[in-house]
Amino acid sequence: MVKTYHGACYCGAVKWEFALDKPEDGRTSLCHCENCKRWFGSNYGMLIKVPWDRFKWSEGSAEPRTHVSDNKGHALTRQFCGECGGGVRDFSDDAEGKFTYVCYGGMDDEARKDLPPKAEFFVSKREPWCQDVKGDDVYRPNELHE
Ligand SMILES: [Zn+2]
Ligand SMILES: [Zn+2]
Repeated sequence: MVKTYHGACYCGAVKWEFALDKPEDGRTSLCHCENCKRWFGSNYGMLIKVPWDRFKWSEGSAEPRTHVSDNKGHALTRQFCGECGGGVRDFSDDAEGKFTYVCYGGMDDEARKDLPPKAEFFVSKREPWCQDVKGDDVYRPNELHE
């Protein structure tokens, strides 16, 4: 059964949603790379990978702002609220049109329960005091952020 997950930025001006046929179609991951640490302002970034065409801006949403940076030769687009600065989503040029990565913390409480992390990226950059995600089937590549 298709389920729609809703979320918003910090102030609520930018509102978004994505629909999944089953929760397994979304992949939540932690990313310990330097780039995510800076953008999220935290010790890791946390995003849900969802199919590109299942994500949309919700009715009444403000237009997000867009920042594009060079991420080791790839254009990395990050979108956020122009009012409060809260992160919304990102995607690199090789994912554009296929997948987008949505900020986990922006999801409604009930939605977060459905989508626990299944992957951790750049584990060599995990802060030494930070524990790894529980579970034997968690995917932990050291480099790739796909
Ligand atoms: Zn906002
Ligand atoms: Zn990252």
